[in-house]
Amino acid sequence: MSQELGTEGNPLRVAIVGSGPAGFYAAEYLLKQDDVRVSIDMFDRLPTPFGLVRFGVAPDHQKIKSVTRVFDRIAKNESFRFYGNVDVGEHITLEELGQRYHQICFATGAQTDRRMGIPGEDLPRSHPATEFVAWFNGHPDYCDYEFDLSAESVAIVGVGNVAVDVARILCRTPEELAKTDIADHALEALRESKVKEVYMLGRRGPLQAAFTNPEVRELGELEGADVRVLPEEVELDPLSQAELDASDDDTLRKKMEILRGFSERPLQGKPRLLTLRFLVSPIELVAGEDGGVRSMRLVRNVLVADKGRLQPQASAHTEDLPVDLVFRSVGYRGVPIDGLPFHERWGVIPNEAGRVVDSESSTPVRGMYVSGWIKRGPSGVIGTNKKDGAETAGLMLEDARTSAVLSPSQPDVAACDAWVRARQTQVVTYGDWSRLDALEQSRGESSGRPRVKFTRRDEVWRALADD
Ligand code: NAP
Repeated sequence: MSQELGTEGNPLRVAIVGSGPAGFYAAEYLLKQDDVRVSIDMFDRLPTPFGLVRFGVAPDHQKIKSVTRVFDRIAKNESFRFYGNVDVGEHITLEELGQRYHQICFATGAQTDRRMGIPGEDLPRSHPATEFVAWFNGHPDYCDYEFDLSAESVAIVGVGNVAVDVARILCRTPEELAKTDIADHALEALRESKVKEVYMLGRRGPLQAAFTNPEVRELGELEGADVRVLPEEVELDPLSQAELDASDDDTLRKKMEILRGFSERPLQGKPRLLTLRFLVSPIELVAGEDGGVRSMRLVRNVLVADKGRLQPQASAHTEDLPVDLVFRSVGYRGVPIDGLPFHERWGVIPNEAGRVVDSESSTPVRGMYVSGWIKRGPSGVIGTNKKDGAETAGLMLEDARTSAVLSPSQPDVAACDAWVRARQTQVVTYGDWSRLDALEQSRGESSGRPRVKFTRRDEVWRALADD
């Protein structure tokens, strides 16, 4: 006789796909209550866990990465297993997961980038910032990417926190970088960097800039780079001024203070110069004789009120900015999952508070959930995923209580382990990761670095085999 779902003998079997913050926080919520017995298998296509904490958070922001201690605690739960290096779609399919789990939660993030949609965007030396970030963080799929750091002048399109990370890494001295866990290949390349000028380009005004105050303030504290803002670009237009006057948000006033401070500050003659520009949009990347980017044509914008938001509108005024390397940092974008609906325009899986819903009828797709950026789009900080994961997990428990779950024919925990290992012989367990983690940290000790990452997949196997 089958036991009630969510009990010792018949636990709620959950597969979480993706091991970044959104996956771990959903797991935490599922495991911390005790009226439904839950057993979780977490899959990641990469050999190491933590998603964007390992491959997105900048290497000079170690404090943010300490959140992994929370994830370690979650992973110690006896009802939790990690299967690294298992790609859902390649090694196992969604349909097969449905035969083994009552619920499947996708926490796959936003794995690609948005485009600017302008001529010249695909010229050599024009890249998505997401690729540069993955490269300097040692993401195994990006180790062999090349960025021409013989460029003297670089433009970063966008003024969000990712653009700030990219600007900071380009402006840091080799000594500053050598104290971080930046990938060795990136450290070497950045040591030889010839970059002198870096521009961050905001299409709207300073008040609308997406970066947060601590992040932009840090740009004023770089050892090897002066920061400047053009005084005329930090002057608010009447609409923005009215918005600021009407707002009781002190962070906006603080932001303006920081930026005005930058505009008034005399340059100190540091080797690099970082310029924050506002109210400009790239309209074309222009090639030089070698076929790669040589300059960027910018149009000046004015702000107009549109649907409750101040939006940029191109003026007749253009300028050419000589740059030989471009990173577009205009947002991440989710990718579709085979077998699930997808909202093309928003780049997310359609859902209601985390329950996946059919694109047309909006009815829930039984047993399917989302958490994090694939659910709400690429916004917020790591901590935002705690609430987000809890919201999804809360609905998963609610559905478990009413038995609105899948009916897996093979939910057996041990059989499932054998099945995964038959599909992928090189599985990385959480125990394996803990060994790798210790090895990486000990490799960093002698040079005063938090860790020296294993980046390539074959390096990971060798390290695990030799340990
Ligand atoms: P973001 O904050 O959404 O910023 C995107 C930027 O791109 C905005 O300045 C946006 O301008 C601009 N943009 C979009 N389309 C554009 C176009 N066609 N032309 C020119 N500019 C364009 O995204 P993000 O920087 O990728 O960051 C993603 C999330 O991760 C954010 O929530 C961020 O705060 C977070 N994050 C946090 C940290 C940290 O806490 N240290 C570090 C990295 C990332 P508009 O505002 O005009 O649209």
